[in-house]
Order: sequence, then C-alpha cells, then structure tokens
Amino acid sequence: MIDPTSPKQASDLLRAHGIRAQKRLGQNFLCDRNTLDKIVRAANLAPDDPVVEIGPGLGGLTLALSQAAAHVTAVEIDLHLEPILKEVLGECTNVDIVYSDFLKIDLPALFEKAFSGKPGTIVANIPYYITSPLLECLLDNKRFIQRIVLLVQNEFAQRAVAAPGSDACGSMSLFVQYHATVELIGSVPPTVFLPSPEVSSAILALNPVLPGTVPVGNEERMFRMIRAAFGQRRKTLLNALMRAPASYDLGFTVNDREKAEALLQAAGIDGNRRGETLSLPEFAHLSNIFEAI
Ligand code: SAM
Repeated sequence: MIDPTSPKQASDLLRAHGIRAQKRLGQNFLCDRNTLDKIVRAANLAPDDPVVEIGPGLGGLTLALSQAAAHVTAVEIDLHLEPILKEVLGECTNVDIVYSDFLKIDLPALFEKAFSGKPGTIVANIPYYITSPLLECLLDNKRFIQRIVLLVQNEFAQRAVAAPGSDACGSMSLFVQYHATVELIGSVPPTVFLPSPEVSSAILALNPVLPGTVPVGNEERMFRMIRAAFGQRRKTLLNALMRAPASYDLGFTVNDREKAEALLQAAGIDGNRRGETLSLPEFAHLSNIFEAI
C-alpha cells in the first residue's frame, strides 16, 4: 500500500503523476506519522462516526481517518490530484471524494448527507490562505458539527485561544470563543510538510456550542460592539463606541456622550477602560443592557 505520509513516497507519487505542489492552493502535504496520529487522536472518533475532511491532498490524513471512522467525505478543490487520490485510496470503501471549492459548496446539504442527521466531526490540514473564511463557514453551520480539529498556522491558533486584554486577542478570538470552546492541542514544526511552509503550525480543536458560550440576546449587535472596540485599539471604550461607523448601528455618535455613558453605567463597565480589555461575558452583558434600556 502506498504511504503518502512518507516524504519519499509522497515526492515519488507527485513525480510519477507529473504534479507539483501548488502554493496558491496552500498545498503543503503533511508527511509525518506522529503529527497525523495526533490529529486523528484529537478528533476523538468512535468507529461509527462519520467525518468530513477539507483538502485531502495526497490522501495521507484521509487514509488514517478512514481507518478510525465509519465514513469520510473529503472535499478537494484540485482535480489534478484525482489520479493520486484514486491510487492511494482506491481500496477504501468508506471514502467519498467531492471535487469542489469547500467555500462555495452547499454546506448544509453536504453535512446532511455526510452526517445522516446527527452532528459530525470535521478534520483538516487546511490551506492557510482560507483559514478565516473557512472557520466562519464552519461556525455558521455549527448546528451540524460536534467537533472540529484543524491544523492551522500557529499565529492563528494563538489568536484563537488568546485571553482578553492580551496582544494576541482580537475580534476573531472572541468570534471563535463565542461559537465554540477552543483547545490548543500542540505545535507542529514546518519540517513535517512537503514542501515546508515558512511558518510553524498548530493543531486546534473546537467544540461548537449552541447557541453560544455566553447568553446574548442579539449576537449581531454584540459582534458589532466587539468590532467597534477592537477597531479602535488604545481608545477608551466610551470613545470607541461613540466613534463606531454609523453602519454598526450602535445608536451613538460623538454627540451622544451622555447616552453612551448611561449605557456603560447601567452595565457597570468603566468607559475609561480600553475596549480590547473587555471579556466576552462583558461584551455580552453590554449588548444585553443595550437591548434593555
Ligand atoms: N490533507 C492533506 C495533507 O494533510 O497532507 C493536504 C493538506 S494541504 C495543506 C491543503 C489541501 O486543501 C490541498 O490539497 C489543496 O488543494 C486543498 N484546498 C485548497 N483550497 C481548497 C478549497 N477552497 N476547498 C477544498 N480544498 C482546498
């Protein structure tokens, strides 16, 4: 059996099929059995669980998933990889490859089919150029998902788990931490990929939470407040709220100082704090008070 997680066999496979890894598609193939086992272990798969994989590439992770799970549906954008995937996965009867752009696919339909009506698992060594939109797509469809295990750029992983007030914490951190509990499983050096990327990577595990990790009446408004606070780092929260773009519809302008102060006072939050120091429960509370007064 071909083992695409062996660097020698992976480069032989690519050469035999006349294929070069495409940088624009984030094709850095994982050629390391230990890292691959770590990813599969982090997925906590039971033998009757179905999995969706994003970007099977040469099929190394797909093969390991097919041995740990009941069924794998893998979505690959690059049709040039079809002959390789056929050669590597030809004998796997529990793998379906869909050739499509994961960001453009009808995800509810894919998940309904792949997971047969109960929340399933997503596993992927993802192309880094689509990390943010990909995570947004997944979390928009979190009702279909019980666990997500991703190999991502280390910097992104650090931001996803960043504590409020730390330099790494941004509006994306709070977006992820609202939609899921997040765990950093471990870091992965560039040397385990073919070709090696310039950055290091990390394994991230997310358990989506419905409706979210904090109680909030209007998610949209809370995220607009978060964006307002982070959009103007180093400004006080009071100033950040008053200077938020009109499209955020927060109801304040620079002329509404009293109104903004009244909101912050009602919420018991000091308007002189820098916006980016607020925790997710504090943003949720502020948003809920906004609805109430
Ligand atoms: N899973 C393989 C591994 O671990 O070696 C390949 C990982 S490689 C980092 C990313 C894979 O995602 C490539 O096969 C690439 O062609 C594919 N890909 C890139 N953009 C995609 C998209 N929008 N939808 C689906 N697959 C995509």
